[in-house]
Amino acid sequence: MSISINAAFDGGNIRVVAIDGDLVDLEIVADHQSDFYQWFYFRVAGARGRTLRFRILNAGKSAYPFGWPGYKVRGSTDRVAWRMTPATYAEGVLEWTWTADTELGWFAYFAPYTMEQHDALVARIAARPGVTHRELGHSLDGQAIDCLTIGSGAKPVWIYARQHPGESMCEWFMEGLLDRLTDHTDPQVRDLLAKATVHCVPNMNPDGTRRGHLRTNAAGVNLNREWHAPTLERSPEVLCVRDAMDATGVTFAIDVHGDEAIPANFIAGFEGIPGWTDDRGAHFYEFGRRLAADTPDFQTALGYPKAQAGKANLSMSTNQLAQRFGAVACTLEMPFKDHDPNPDPEFGWSPDRSKRLAHACLETLAGMIDDL
Ligand code: ZN
Repeated sequence: MSISINAAFDGGNIRVVAIDGDLVDLEIVADHQSDFYQWFYFRVAGARGRTLRFRILNAGKSAYPFGWPGYKVRGSTDRVAWRMTPATYAEGVLEWTWTADTELGWFAYFAPYTMEQHDALVARIAARPGVTHRELGHSLDGQAIDCLTIGSGAKPVWIYARQHPGESMCEWFMEGLLDRLTDHTDPQVRDLLAKATVHCVPNMNPDGTRRGHLRTNAAGVNLNREWHAPTLERSPEVLCVRDAMDATGVTFAIDVHGDEAIPANFIAGFEGIPGWTDDRGAHFYEFGRRLAADTPDFQTALGYPKAQAGKANLSMSTNQLAQRFGAVACTLEMPFKDHDPNPDPEFGWSPDRSKRLAHACLETLAGMIDDL
């Protein structure tokens, strides 16, 4: 019996080039109307008892080819546990082998978080006491942009994720965040929610998520380059969220992302905006320092270079929110690889650790909210 490969499901992405015995040659499909690609998620059937060799032939032309060295594929036999599978990257080809003791196996760039999972999360959280659910608007494919609001405090906090849909760790983070925010027995959360109202958008890009995109929406638009001038035609996902932010103001914000290359969690700030002040910047740096002190899964040594004075890109949400609202805003980046200062050889950076990092962020924020 021959094996078969399938990605025709929620969030799936792969194209079969050729299957020759136990050798499977594949390509990742580019985002619709875009050149970006790196996210993959597919199923193999008929695998039991075989040692299969997978090759992604177009890995070298992906959006971030420097993300492949040191990267390990996530594999699963039950779609619950996603273990790291060693891979090699040479001459533009990502390759791994897998010996199957089950009929079915799944492989992905990172543990997936599909729209089915998103809908289950929203249903579960929206039903809890003290939660307000709103549809802020709709995507180009007509899907809802869900917002869950918790708390009654004076300071508006916005935490929003997955502008880049292939960064699935972001929605695992949001699941951890929402579970913690709705735990009314938690004294730190109670204290935070007396001082802040927390608006959570767990998925900014449902179309890209369902379509198996890496970086863009249904029209091939990178939503994190739209925040200065979002439109209904190109980026209604950003427009509706920014309008809702305009209605509340923003004191503190986290834009949640994943980074292909850097093997560590880090935050990026808003250096270089016209309205930069050292005082507001100090709060951003203090958040990073305290978070690193609060959890071994955060650090401040590795990260992106800072923008020079006046050179900030205001099309990116963190810069736009800092400029527009005077917010202390940060971009949180989690790794596709692992958090090397505190590695896990079996799972690498993972859903569970993404959720726990969200808990740590809330604890750190709770300790700082009076200063913001
Ligand atoms: Zn991103």
